[in-house]
Amino acid sequence: MSHEGIRFVSAEEAAQASAQENNRPPAEAVTPLKVRVKKSEGTGIEIEWRDGHKSAWDFRWLRDACPCATCNAERETTGRATGEAKPKSEDPFALYQAPPRPDEVTPVGRYALSFKWNDGHQSGIYSWTYLRSVCQCAICKPPRKG
Ligand SMILES: [Zn+2]
Ligand SMILES: [Zn+2]
Repeated sequence: MSHEGIRFVSAEEAAQASAQENNRPPAEAVTPLKVRVKKSEGTGIEIEWRDGHKSAWDFRWLRDACPCATCNAERETTGRATGEAKPKSEDPFALYQAPPRPDEVTPVGRYALSFKWNDGHQSGIYSWTYLRSVCQCAICKPPRKG
């Protein structure tokens, strides 16, 4: 019996193959190289990924895309898309709401960011995988026609 023809698969290749099987993005695509949180400017965050891709979101979008269980359930019942603003209150006496911005942005382990929003909400854990999956650039999210 010959062992010829047996190809040893490196650990890296095996990892890539299993990632493809699970339809997961490659590690470089969900590992940030640089993260810029423009908290003092109040604008948003920018991430440069290890695969060279760049993503940016404004704070309002991120607040409306909060991935916590409560916000997920709310979006499911109202049919609101991830990152889409909630309909404005019709109540003329509704309190003015300051634009969403985080009071604190904290890294969660090495895999996510957590925001403490100025409206007090802070249960969303924004993992790198999640953020990459909601990248708003023209390549990931081509502009809608019409
Ligand atoms: Zn939430
Ligand atoms: Zn993108």
